[in-house]
Amino acid sequence: MEILKTVSEMQAWSDNIHQKGNQICLVPTMGYFHEGHLSLMEKGKKICSDLVVSLFVNPTQFSENEDLDSYPANIERDVKLAEKKGVSVIFMPDKKEIYPDRFQTYVELTELPAHLCGLSRPVHFRGVATVVTKLFNIVKPDVAVFGSKDFQQLQIIRRMVKDLNYNIKIVECPIVREDDGLAMSSRNAYLSPEQRLSALCLSKSLEKAEAMIEKGEIRTSTVKKELENYIKSFPFTKIDYISICDPETLDEIGDINSADTACPLLIAVAVYVGKTRLIDNRIINPGQ
Ligand code: AMP
Repeated sequence: MEILKTVSEMQAWSDNIHQKGNQICLVPTMGYFHEGHLSLMEKGKKICSDLVVSLFVNPTQFSENEDLDSYPANIERDVKLAEKKGVSVIFMPDKKEIYPDRFQTYVELTELPAHLCGLSRPVHFRGVATVVTKLFNIVKPDVAVFGSKDFQQLQIIRRMVKDLNYNIKIVECPIVREDDGLAMSSRNAYLSPEQRLSALCLSKSLEKAEAMIEKGEIRTSTVKKELENYIKSFPFTKIDYISICDPETLDEIGDINSADTACPLLIAVAVYVGKTRLIDNRIINPGQ
């Protein structure tokens, strides 16, 4: 496995692979690997013989008040784990390599970021779209793998690939969870043991919503109210959003009825547990 740190080295490596007629798969990450990241690598390795994992804590997707400076890291461990998964290259650039002095070009979507996480993280998706565009131009992948844990991000990347005519196949990987249902996240490391218990409110509330809708509840306002009360019953929690929406447009759904409701539906939640902001989601198919 090679560790490459500059844009020119990475581009030259990719050109060489393509000249040999091979395809490249990219898994973009911010590091501090858990089983979720490793599942993306496994999937990528099955699709392409040459797998590039980028490890870059992207400053432009964090607001001033967020956790850029404290984001967890363990590069030595990450390198070992990636090597075990058969990764060909870890691309680990410096911030200056990606954002040189006088950098001023950003990629911004007009509609999808105006929902869910974009409402409380105003610069987040501009940062994500910009860094992923740059990674696509640097790594030149044929395939890129993203987790549905960050569902809005996945939809934004899919839209961006269409809008900007990238010839890159986007592959989705399901959410990997701890045994008790908590979605794996690098940020789970911030939780105290008591907060870790409260963090279960996210996955449990999604199960609850699905059960209510399966039993025939058609008013999304009723489902959301029930979830709000449920989540509030856990200590240390503060709700950012509870959403029941169309998975493609991310527009909120009013009442669920078979005639005009998008099917499937996305149920998504974001909750602060202490100072840690956690997200989770679930796709459901009402009436099926
Ligand atoms: P991050 O390092 O948090 O930016 O995540 C890198 C990639 O891993 C993104 O495509 C995430 O959606 C994906 N990912 C993060 N957590 C999980 C998880 N629990 N299950 C599946 N994919 C995940």
